[in-house]
Amino acid sequence: MENFETLLERSTKIHGHICAGQVIGVRMSMIGLREIGIEDPKAQRKEFYVLVEIDRCATDAIQTVTGCSLGKRSLKWLDYGIMAATFVNLKSGKAVRITALEESRETSKKYCPEIGDKYKQQLEAYRIMPEEELFKVQSVAITVPEEDMPGRPMRRVQCEQCGDWVQDCREVIKDGKALCKPCAFGRYYEIM
Ligand SMILES: [Zn+2]
Ligand SMILES: [Zn+2]
Repeated sequence: MENFETLLERSTKIHGHICAGQVIGVRMSMIGLREIGIEDPKAQRKEFYVLVEIDRCATDAIQTVTGCSLGKRSLKWLDYGIMAATFVNLKSGKAVRITALEESRETSKKYCPEIGDKYKQQLEAYRIMPEEELFKVQSVAITVPEEDMPGRPMRRVQCEQCGDWVQDCREVIKDGKALCKPCAFGRYYEIM
């Protein structure tokens, strides 16, 4: 794997700015990959999978370091609003969930006290803080559903209400009818 500085530089470029989220995301990804035994994320791209629990800055860093993406189905986004991600080795089954510790905002104050600006100080501190002060790492077991794996869709079904086509077993059976989720549970948009 490439070193921290190289990865941070790349993620900063892709994300558009340097921020605490980039430092956290790069470090989190390096630990996650190490813990599940992925040494070369590019060469081993089909051997692992990442689930992110928030759509904020660090998520871009995770995408940069791991090479995982929504479009490749190697990245899943769960809208929990939690600064955490789970790294899964699809071959060995080993998985770790890593959470950024809220306390690290406080703990970081003992590092780089010479920097007056709070955000700059945090940014520098997060680079050098020992990982146990920044993250909680849990070993977890996770079953990746077959319909979530890359490759051809397992199934394509037409919604019996609106006519939209639904792939990857995301249809819902309601009163004996195959429906898309918007028709079954309500939609996020209103047709004008
Ligand atoms: Zn950012
Ligand atoms: Zn529908």
